[in-house]
Amino acid sequence: MYEMYAVFGGTFDPVHFGHLFPVEALAQQAKLTRVLLLPNNVPPHRPQPEASAVQRMNMLRYAIRNRPLFEIDSRELMCDTPSWTVATLEVLRNERGPQAPLGLIIGQDSLLSLSKWYRWQDLLSLSHLLVCKRSGYSVELGSPEIRRWLDKHITTQIEQLHQHPAGFIWMANTPLVNISATGIRQRRLQGLDCNHLLPADVFDYINRAGLYLK
Ligand code: ATP
Repeated sequence: MYEMYAVFGGTFDPVHFGHLFPVEALAQQAKLTRVLLLPNNVPPHRPQPEASAVQRMNMLRYAIRNRPLFEIDSRELMCDTPSWTVATLEVLRNERGPQAPLGLIIGQDSLLSLSKWYRWQDLLSLSHLLVCKRSGYSVELGSPEIRRWLDKHITTQIEQLHQHPAGFIWMANTPLVNISATGIRQRRLQGLDCNHLLPADVFDYINRAGLYLK
């Protein structure tokens, strides 16, 4: 079997256990060698993350200490242009070569809104789609278009992910971790404790930087 890498994009404002725990479980089930965390560049016309790009990077650095599965890939943050996942995957595909299996990890909420992504139907020609569960976002809630696409490409065979470079959708049996970055930001505003929601080093950094207090 080839070594399999996967990428996991997000705003990570902040990174939290809802990102880390499901992806660690997914990686174990799918026998992934490495997961590249890809913090997004948010274009100026969109609501901006509260943390700066540097702060989001710093939080990710703290989050992956002692988590050897993960690596940070800052290429989208370094660009001035919006982050198109499909464009990043094209670059990664060129780097990894045509045969190497590549995965794109998303949560079920992102799966349901995938048809709004730029060139979403090209994603599967570049990578597999590896989906983490997320409470409140069952696949049955997806549009008929997404469900038909899912039925066409879904597999339950991990070997297929390793034997093909791209083209399959795999739903991982990941724990439901009911945490969101929005929820964490709201709790901070309300003065509620958050230290059970994200790694201690990330939480210390948030406190030191005074993030999410206004
Ligand atoms: P926000 O609340 O600001 O929208 P978020 O917590 O959803 O943020 P993002 O950085 O936007 O986090 O998400 C990046 C990816 O992580 C998306 O694919 C999303 O589906 C997934 N994700 C985020 N939280 C969870 C969770 N609790 N369980 C499973 N997947 C998650």
